[in-house]
Amino acid sequence: MELPRSAQLASEWTALLEAHSLDARRTALRVANNNDQRLATHFYDVMLNDKVASQFLTHEQIKTALHASMAKWVAGIFQLKPDDDLETVVHHQIYIGNVHARVGVPVHVVLRGARALKDLFVRLIHNEVQRGPDAMDVLAFINDSIDFAMEIMAGAYASSYDRSTRADESYRLFSLAQDVTAEKATRRASLLNWENDIMFQHALATEPVRLPRLGESDFGLWFKHKGAHVFQSNYETSVILNTINRIDNQILPVLGSEESADDAVEARQSLRDLHEQVRLISSHLDRLFDERNELEAGRDSLTRLLSRRFLDVILAKEVTYARHSGTKFALLALDVDHFKEVNDTWGHESGDLVLQQLAAILTENTRGGDYVFRMGGEEFLVLLVDVQPMGAQRVANKLREQVAQAEFRIANDQIINITVSVGVAVHDGHPDHARILRAADDALYQAKNAGRNSVVIA
Ligand code: GH3
Ligand code: MG
Ligand code: MG
Repeated sequence: MELPRSAQLASEWTALLEAHSLDARRTALRVANNNDQRLATHFYDVMLNDKVASQFLTHEQIKTALHASMAKWVAGIFQLKPDDDLETVVHHQIYIGNVHARVGVPVHVVLRGARALKDLFVRLIHNEVQRGPDAMDVLAFINDSIDFAMEIMAGAYASSYDRSTRADESYRLFSLAQDVTAEKATRRASLLNWENDIMFQHALATEPVRLPRLGESDFGLWFKHKGAHVFQSNYETSVILNTINRIDNQILPVLGSEESADDAVEARQSLRDLHEQVRLISSHLDRLFDERNELEAGRDSLTRLLSRRFLDVILAKEVTYARHSGTKFALLALDVDHFKEVNDTWGHESGDLVLQQLAAILTENTRGGDYVFRMGGEEFLVLLVDVQPMGAQRVANKLREQVAQAEFRIANDQIINITVSVGVAVHDGHPDHARILRAADDALYQAKNAGRNSVVIA
């Protein structure tokens, strides 16, 4: 990444080190080494007292990892020598800045942490270094070092943040992509299906039943996870979300209750209410769709699946959703086994046909709220929303079986079979989505090693 820029920063860091006496640098290192735990603890305490900062620090893994890496970071930047490999050090600061941007820790929160560190350093130096002018030199070096590292982090943070804001914008713009009219019809049908299902179940019930909630239906999941985001901050969006809640929390409990089973008049009233509310959703949905233009971006042209372009935006959104709603999501990393042989034996065109049919299998066997990406080549990624670990494993196995059973039609109407390997990772609450992506990839790698046509859970 940005090689010329990081080389330049590295040479600036050399100059910074050369501008301070060896004595001052050694003293700073000694103080940092002697107090690394105390500095890290102080940093952490200050951050936990900050309302914004503490939001990002409550996760258990962060608590332990942050303390250790802070201690290492503090000691690390003071042991540098002018002829060290400073470009690696620069890259590390860039990496930290990128993680902050990905997780969404605001840059001012990081600067506040740095201020806390410098503040403690002043007190430490005051106690440990007796002679006046010497102490000033040491402090000047400490200030320069921390500030420079922060500068690099902030630079990386800003460009990473810009990138994701731009992607976020275009994700919203890309609207419901390909064919808005078809999408609209599909979503309408799935809403009406749910309503029919309720009517049917209610009519057949001879005792109180727990009717399936709209918010958990195919339509509801699609709307909460995709629709509401794409149509963001719209009046219609909030009407639909509120109506879904009203149906689930007010109408369904009455409809499924004992009174409703006994009292035909009350039951008819509840059904009329339900029908009204569904019509309200439906008409607002129409309007939302009508306001949109077709926009093709963000789709893979061969399979029509999402390309990786919006992956970061969507993952960040799902991490936030999981944090606020207390739900889990899962990633399935999926790769075709020995796909090269398909191409080598039947030709590239047949390979393309296989990929298209595989994409259809993945879409047909997941819910409307889930996401299917083509990551490139014969690699796919499925994001299952609102799912428990057992459910994710079940879906992964179902997909693997469906693919293994399917007859793939290739050139000249021949039929071939393929298999896939799947790595599954369930979100563990960690705010950095790069972790779950890595976990799914590692699991996929293990599934390949386990002999392929298999599912491995991270
Ligand atoms: P493994 O089981 O280890 O995954 O083996 P593999 O052969 O599937 O893996 P490898 O990565 O060696 O080969 C992937 C092949 O996918 C190589 C490349 O030619 C082919 N491929 C990548 N993109 C496309 C595409 O868009 N169309 C077609 N037909 N083939 C593609
Ligand atoms: Mg492969
Ligand atoms: Mg591959």
